Amino acid sequence: MKILVCVKQVPDTNEVKIDPVKGTLIREGVPSILNPDDANALEAALTIKDENPGTTVAVMTMGPPQASVMLRECLAMGADEAYLLSDRAFGGADTCATSTTIAAGIKKFGPVDIIFAGRQAIDGDTAQVGPQVAERLGLPVVTYVQDIKFDGNKLVVQRQLENGYEVVEAQVPCLLTVVKELNEPRYMSIYRIVDAYKKEITVWNHEDISLDPKECGLNASPTQVFRSFTPPPKGKGEMLKGSVNEMASSLIFKLKEKHVL
Ligand SMILES: Cc1cc2nc3c(=O)[nH]c(=O)nc-3n(C[C@H](O)[C@H](O)[C@H](O)COP(=O)(O)OP(=O)(O)OC[C@H]3O[C@@H](n4cnc5c(N)ncnc54)[C@H](O)[C@@H]3O)c2cc1C
Repeated sequence: MKILVCVKQVPDTNEVKIDPVKGTLIREGVPSILNPDDANALEAALTIKDENPGTTVAVMTMGPPQASVMLRECLAMGADEAYLLSDRAFGGADTCATSTTIAAGIKKFGPVDIIFAGRQAIDGDTAQVGPQVAERLGLPVVTYVQDIKFDGNKLVVQRQLENGYEVVEAQVPCLLTVVKELNEPRYMSIYRIVDAYKKEITVWNHEDISLDPKECGLNASPTQVFRSFTPPPKGKGEMLKGSVNEMASSLIFKLKEKHVL
């Protein structure tokens, strides 16, 4: 069985701070990491591999050459193969163009039983790429997966909802996007780290995946970022004074004033 995991290298947004004077984002020294949901997606693929001998797990990313560092991390966790879709023509892509490129990469990769993606990337934050890739490949998709049972033929998954979950059966081939509640990603192992640096990463450009430059990157993006800015800081909080009853009635008054109640 073949499993492919879509992985994205992202800035560690926990480390991004706001300059209190200029009000701009401080990006300097912010490390790039494997997108957290994608680590859960890779863990799910590796668990299926552990339980189903003969399974291979490939990871694929669209990104600049430095994304290969993250791919080696995935190899060190246990992935067998790594693919990097990298070309200037892919730059400036919105989710539509990103998914076109990833789908073209998967077509070139060949038949695959399960495709995993994270629910969401912590930088773009749209949660659109997984379902769009499935759509372009004509595959069924289950999103927000928080539990997986696989019997070698059929997947029974729990799909997270706001106030519970639903159980969905899916036939392979299909695409699943996963949430962090699914599992605890494993660490890289020492011997695999050494191995990961010996393995070759396959790099494909637009010609390799049979895409015209008009069909990818900025050229194929129906949306364009017009302006980006740091949101204004929240106003100062207010401490209520008086007895408990006075504070409670003051709170109710203020909430009514703001039409919260
Ligand atoms: C309007 C708009 C314009 C943009 N313009 C630019 C731009 O000019 N330059 C620029 O650099 N970025 C730009 N972006 C960001 C870029 O579109 C996104 O980074 C990219 O499309 C992925 O979307 P996302 O980060 O929201 O991923 P999500 O949809 O939140 O990601 C879900 C999952 O999809 C998979 N995935 C996502 N991206 C990749 C990837 N690259 N490779 C492999 N798997 C992936 C991962 O499994 C991930 O967990 C733009 C985004 C928008 C919305």
